[in-house]
Amino acid sequence: MDIILFGMQGSGKGTQGKLIAQRHNLSVFETGAELRKLAQDDSELGQKIKAIIEAGNLVPNEVVMEIIENFMHKLPEGSTVLFDGIPRKMEQAETFDTLMTRLGRDFKGILIEISEEVAMQRLTTRRICEKCKEVYPAKYEALSCEKCGGTLVTRQDDNADAIKTRITAYTDETMPVIKKYESKGKIIRVNGEQDIQEVDTELEKALKQILS
Ligand SMILES: [Zn+2]
Repeated sequence: MDIILFGMQGSGKGTQGKLIAQRHNLSVFETGAELRKLAQDDSELGQKIKAIIEAGNLVPNEVVMEIIENFMHKLPEGSTVLFDGIPRKMEQAETFDTLMTRLGRDFKGILIEISEEVAMQRLTTRRICEKCKEVYPAKYEALSCEKCGGTLVTRQDDNADAIKTRITAYTDETMPVIKKYESKGKIIRVNGEQDIQEVDTELEKALKQILS
């Protein structure tokens, strides 16, 4: 059983995803990372992606599906995949479902749920270390990074308008996908507004249920 991790910006999905992937030895599929890796590749698919990126075009959905299929074929026997942030839209979900069926794989989704208000609040008040790029929530009050001592600054892309746009895209495009999967009993919701340790505990429970 593979896993899709869903969560709005600010839900902690990125951090939590890395954590559970390490702990459970999951193979993470993240579209951006996979694109960058393949664009360096001499393979036919790699060259195709390189050409699309160099032309400044968005990678079309059918190519994204090809990338997923390529990724799945290279997996070691018995691997569990953690899809990070994909499928993003209804159209993509339909092709994704078709592909998974063809590959003979099933999946469940975990949604780290936070409200738009909490997302806005977290994203507009977090700070980042100038040196090592570690991200700190507003409640971390110190002025310097606990890892490297660097200065903490507000992220440049963290302005309210840009954040609002990303949140709206998630609510309008990704939430319908989550609801569709939920209606088929494929979604486990985790409360992302708790302390990070409590989120982690709930996530582990969800994973246990999916992986057993
Ligand atoms: Zn730092």
